[in-house]
Amino acid sequence: MNDVKKEKTPARTFYRKRIVLFVLLEKIKIWPSRQGLLHGIKTIVSTGTHACITTHCGKTFTVTNSKNSRAARWLRNKWYKGTCAACAVPDWKMKKYSVTFFKNGYGSDLREGARRPPADRQE
Ligand SMILES: [Zn+2]
Repeated sequence: MNDVKKEKTPARTFYRKRIVLFVLLEKIKIWPSRQGLLHGIKTIVSTGTHACITTHCGKTFTVTNSKNSRAARWLRNKWYKGTCAACAVPDWKMKKYSVTFFKNGYGSDLREGARRPPADRQE
């Protein structure tokens, strides 16, 4: 019954507030820079406590896997001024991000083996 919906707003997604940062980054592929710009993540290579991130605009840097890092906080609170022009973050990705929410007691933490709560419709 829902197969007519195609380019509509994506379904809302909920993640745990305390979601592991790298797991979240792998999923949403967005990096908030200190300048307040959202970059598209091209690759993320995790070594456990650190991860090496390469953005689409060619920047490579290492981040620490902390749930309380600035990046995690900014992503949760959706603090950003705009998106990186060079990264050209696609519209659909921004739309998806705009309907992604972080909650304390509800949502997926995307842990291995964990299943997402049943959604009311497929993404
Ligand atoms: Zn960029």
